[in-house]
Amino acid sequence: MAHRVVLVPGDGIGPEVATAARRVLDATGVELRWIERPAGATALERAGALLPEETLDAIRECRVALKGPITTPVGTGFRSVNVALRQELDLFAAVRPARSLPGVPTRHEGVDLVVIRENTEDLYQGIEFERGSDAAMALRARLRDLGGFELREDAGVTLKPISASGTHRIVRFAFEYARTNRRRKVTVGHKAPVMRFSDGLFLDTARADARDYPEIAWEEIQVDHLSARLVRRPEDFDVLLLPNLYGDILSDLCAGLVGGLGLIPGANIGWEYAVFEPVHGSAPDIAGRGIADPVAMILSGAMLMRHLGELDAAERVEAAVDAVLRAGSVRTGDVGGTSTTTDMADAIAAAVRSA
Ligand code: NAD
Repeated sequence: MAHRVVLVPGDGIGPEVATAARRVLDATGVELRWIERPAGATALERAGALLPEETLDAIRECRVALKGPITTPVGTGFRSVNVALRQELDLFAAVRPARSLPGVPTRHEGVDLVVIRENTEDLYQGIEFERGSDAAMALRARLRDLGGFELREDAGVTLKPISASGTHRIVRFAFEYARTNRRRKVTVGHKAPVMRFSDGLFLDTARADARDYPEIAWEEIQVDHLSARLVRRPEDFDVLLLPNLYGDILSDLCAGLVGGLGLIPGANIGWEYAVFEPVHGSAPDIAGRGIADPVAMILSGAMLMRHLGELDAAERVEAAVDAVLRAGSVRTGDVGGTSTTTDMADAIAAAVRSA
């Protein structure tokens, strides 16, 4: 039976890498029925909404989506579509594997990390008070009453809620992921000594849950120190478990360790739905030129195949990416080549067919 998959091409380089990924996934021979739906700037133009209901409904119906990046309009009052999508569908876990790829020159070899990031809380929950607004003024007065906290009159405020229940599910998810994928260690990054009631709660909850997984090593490191250690000795780490903001930042750092944003896939997973997307953004600086690296989107597609239970197809796609990068004659500019997005997709699709 065909798998129904929603394809959200997105903005900027999104449609270019989405077409490439679709070509490669179709080459596996697995029957995929693509249901294309808009989101982002294109959707705003066409449907009058950044995240149209028809797109959300399609994902709710099909349960899985492959999504390109979406430009977040700055200063227009719109909530980030990515944040909204993760919250609407309760996609609480972001999974972002970063592994050394053959033929891609980097400072470190043998990197094989997975960032697991809490996706719905923390500073990205979207609870914000604009400088000078009535709400900010009311908050200021309330905080003074509650604990003598003084906010400057001209302060904008973003809240950082972290709950025990929200943390509990991401910790369980991380350990179950580690167990299923034969990972040896989970490292939690935090800033608990400074933010006792948010990061401190995250750390305490994670520490307690970790005891249920004695076969997996447990490590806790403050996130600033973790950043320094990651760039020096990434091979020391395995699964990184992080609250939302740190996870966002460190997954880009991990992308940098293995050759850049064009190579790193990702998944946003909840109990009911899963949306697969590259870590990179819409790359407006190269959009429309046909030179974007499609590897991150293609590997996101491989993660989607694995999620659908199509393990053989997922492995063939990953092996084909490795083979094309290792051969080195077809590669895009971000990894030192001159090939186009389409050349890369064609080469990987051909390698999938011949596997
Ligand atoms: P970006 O990831 O779009 O670009 C950063 C740099 O990496 C650019 O120089 C770009 O050319 C390069 N790059 C990214 N992907 C590439 C690829 N596949 N091939 C070759 N080069 C690639 O980050 P940004 O410039 O900070 O963000 C641009 C827009 O994307 C913003 O509006 C941002 O909010 C949005 N964004 C969206 C998502 C998402 O939808 N999941 C994620 C991150 C950023």
